[in-house]
Amino acid sequence: ISSVELTQQFLDRLKQEDSKYNSFITVTEEQALADAQAADAQRAAGNATPWTGIPFAHKDIFCTNGVRTTCGSKMLENFVPPYDATVTDNFRKAGAVCLGKTNMDEFAMGSSNESSHFGAVTNPWGLSKGEKRVPGGSSGGSAAAVAARLVPAATATDTGGSIRQPAALCGVTGLKPTYGRVSRYGMIAFASSLDQGGAIARTAEDNALMLNVMAGFDPKDSTSLDRAVPDYTATLNEPLKGLRIGLPKEYFSDQLSPAMEEQIRAAVREYEKLGATVKEVSLPNAKLAIAAYYVIAPAEASANLSRFDGVRYGYRCEDPKDLMDLYTRTRAEGFGTEVKRRILVGTYALSAGYFDAYYLKAQKVRRLIQQDFINTFKEVDVLMSPTTPSPAFALGEKTNDPVTMYLEDIFTIAINLAGVPAMSVPAGFVDGLPVGLQIIGDYFSEARLLNAAHQFQ
Ligand code: GLN
Repeated sequence: ISSVELTQQFLDRLKQEDSKYNSFITVTEEQALADAQAADAQRAAGNATPWTGIPFAHKDIFCTNGVRTTCGSKMLENFVPPYDATVTDNFRKAGAVCLGKTNMDEFAMGSSNESSHFGAVTNPWGLSKGEKRVPGGSSGGSAAAVAARLVPAATATDTGGSIRQPAALCGVTGLKPTYGRVSRYGMIAFASSLDQGGAIARTAEDNALMLNVMAGFDPKDSTSLDRAVPDYTATLNEPLKGLRIGLPKEYFSDQLSPAMEEQIRAAVREYEKLGATVKEVSLPNAKLAIAAYYVIAPAEASANLSRFDGVRYGYRCEDPKDLMDLYTRTRAEGFGTEVKRRILVGTYALSAGYFDAYYLKAQKVRRLIQQDFINTFKEVDVLMSPTTPSPAFALGEKTNDPVTMYLEDIFTIAINLAGVPAMSVPAGFVDGLPVGLQIIGDYFSEARLLNAAHQFQ
């Protein structure tokens, strides 16, 4: 099959099916077919990479030269970047065919994809039972699109759980790499010290292929790390005998329903059959993660989002009276409720009188959380836990209660504060809805995580 035929098939399916899910914000049909044609020519000339001619999609947070990049916001509804993110550029160079941009929570703030200016996304698994359920967020479009087989893989980002939580709720596989492994250049910033690009795909093997293209040092990102990139597919079949698994006791708490816990424990038993050893470990400061995150992430967001002022790019209000009116009305009209809430919280936490009490304190807690992970990885190779406390909830169920929504990430957020890599891997069902097993590793252990996930699949 040629790439043009393959691309056309995916585009046809996308056009037929996505009205049910709303997983795409923009479909770039013409560009995709032109890229597929170019890929076929490359293949014929013997210049193919594993990605040449393969369709995929980008989360609408990655800047795409000449293609609208909205970040799920009215603020960027008509923003067409004049440059590519490094991640975008890498896929282009590998010859992959981008079908479009996937839906997401506004500025990646959310756990349900309901804060998108372009409407909520519907979880394909919920729909298969006749129910309207969330796909998770903020990478809900990427997860739903992969789950509904509209694309084989999609890029995603994770600041507090936004790759792993939607992957879990949609029954697909997601990887958040080590902070600094994937360039953030051209990835619209939410909380810069936590944001990390990664992927959502059906399997660990597909994730390995994605990471092969995404990972690597980038001089344009000052927090990118200069370390060699292994071939992540090379070690997928290594035996797991002797793998030391730790189960953090704080992640098997009352928040977890017995049915969820049983699925996760069953998955761990499979690992024991593959020769792994299992012991209980402790992350004593994990309980502080949500509180620390909801100071640090809004603080960084309030600074990052100050650039949306109606002057340089993005939305601008009609007929501003003066400069102040331009700023205030542009931001009042351009940002949604959750984004405004974060800007207010962040500005407060950073203000002169409260900086020490909130921001500085949260940074100290962050260091304690990081130390917990460093300590446990002296005893075990990987940690395993549920990705989420429960399966996909109903659309609208948590929109009026931000704190309940924030608790969705209770098992994922500490990992971002520490900067270590983690995956979510499908591990069965509860009430017909998918459940995710979270596998967490030490810094730069992506190959080991992918190996462990692949052996389970
Ligand atoms: N749900 C978390 C938040 O709303 C995490 C989002 C993310 O990882 N981008 O901030």
